Amino acid sequence: MIIDAHAHAFPSLHDHVGYASAEEHMRAAQVHVVAPSQPVIETATGRVVTEPTLSDGKSLGWSSLLDVNFRYGKYGRMEWTRDGRDYHLQMFAPTFPESLEPEKMLALMQYAGVGKAMLHNAHMYGMLNDYLGEVIRRFPGKFAGTVQIHEADCDREDQIRELKRAVEDLKLTALHFQIEGFFRHDFRDTFDDPKFDVFWEEVRRLAIPVLWNIRPLGVPRERNYVEQVARLGRWAKRWKNIPSVFTHGVHLGLLMDEGGRVVIPAEMWETLELPNMHLELLFPVMQGARWDYPFPEAQELIRAFHKRLGASKMLWGSDYPTSERAATYPQSLDYVRKHCTFLSASDKDQILCGTAARLYRFPEHEKVRT
Ligand SMILES: [Zn+2]
Repeated sequence: MIIDAHAHAFPSLHDHVGYASAEEHMRAAQVHVVAPSQPVIETATGRVVTEPTLSDGKSLGWSSLLDVNFRYGKYGRMEWTRDGRDYHLQMFAPTFPESLEPEKMLALMQYAGVGKAMLHNAHMYGMLNDYLGEVIRRFPGKFAGTVQIHEADCDREDQIRELKRAVEDLKLTALHFQIEGFFRHDFRDTFDDPKFDVFWEEVRRLAIPVLWNIRPLGVPRERNYVEQVARLGRWAKRWKNIPSVFTHGVHLGLLMDEGGRVVIPAEMWETLELPNMHLELLFPVMQGARWDYPFPEAQELIRAFHKRLGASKMLWGSDYPTSERAATYPQSLDYVRKHCTFLSASDKDQILCGTAARLYRFPEHEKVRT
């Protein structure tokens, strides 16, 4: 049995599901690409643009975002218009779908030999609690799902009520927590502020893991990223009884030295080594532009993480369909399943199944072989 710890299913990106308005949803997508890894192109001329076109350049917060009619285009593009000029960036592979039915995700899983998948929420797709609740109800034993709330307001009664509803009524079994969500109040607060204790108390009571999406929230981005990782470590030491998953692997682009070698800073090791912390192995999607299948550089990283953290702290995720930037769905699995030959059969069993089965309460998960 193989479990994909990070997959997606979502309704039309143009439906703005779960958001109060289209604008609110598109702001959350816009902030995600204010400092993009991909080049911004002036559509009419093909010129690569270096000046800021999405924000006033002063911060990454909501109040700095410009009104540029930010929108999802076709074929994996994000598009916007400023001063009468159209811009775009190729955020995803051109195969990126405008909606992804759970039936298609399931067909891909069956094709690659994957038995179950954890479906992640994320602001760019919408606020999908009800949608994912319906998917896991329709496909019992195949999917688990994550809750999403507005992180910047998670001390508020309505957000805590939504968390409780999504877990107790919709049967979602983990919390997706994107620290970028604090942009709604211009990063006035951080997730470890004591004002949010009331929310974390409820997460602990519900006994669900937190799936962290850690990104830099300021400049210099490399330094800010490491600071956020260290903050997560302090948080995890304080909330010892809440299991956490560090999703999306590590941000390779921000950790590379000039020779292209990934250097894991001490703060990151310290956070990842905490007993309640786990690491999602998800590398091609983050670095596919530089690395080719079967990603020997990623295998070396996995070897290093395995040596220091052990297989029971690691879990494989595809992040399909974003992963198509770099690999087909079977390839996003096979660089670990087939090519990490240094892992024993029981280590692979942990990474490809056991760790996720323990953390994410899949329906019937007690039958999963670990
Ligand atoms: Zn994802």
